[in-house]
Amino acid sequence: MALIRCTECGNEVSDQARSCPKCGAPVHVTGVSVAAAPRPVPATTGRVLVALLISFITIGYLVPWCIAWTRHHQKQVPIFLINLLLGWTLIGWFAALIWAFSSDVEMM
Ligand SMILES: [Zn+2]
Repeated sequence: MALIRCTECGNEVSDQARSCPKCGAPVHVTGVSVAAAPRPVPATTGRVLVALLISFITIGYLVPWCIAWTRHHQKQVPIFLINLLLGWTLIGWFAALIWAFSSDVEMM
């Protein structure tokens, strides 16, 4: 912490202060911006593509359960659990998908 001279009134001001306590002028420390608040990172094309990929994967992740649910499958709950808990193994995902397409559906 150092004292610097105010550019407006010449008063001694702490370099940690945002403004001069005497005249209220903003304190400018050489090399350090007064507005050092973090600015939002601009969305680059790469970031947007990663976000789209993640949302595509997460929506597609529950497709086997969605199929079971729309087909009124009798084993919706176990299909959902296998889909949710073992879907990441891919084998579990395909097992849930095949099970969802099986003919074990409710008679309306
Ligand atoms: Zn001042």
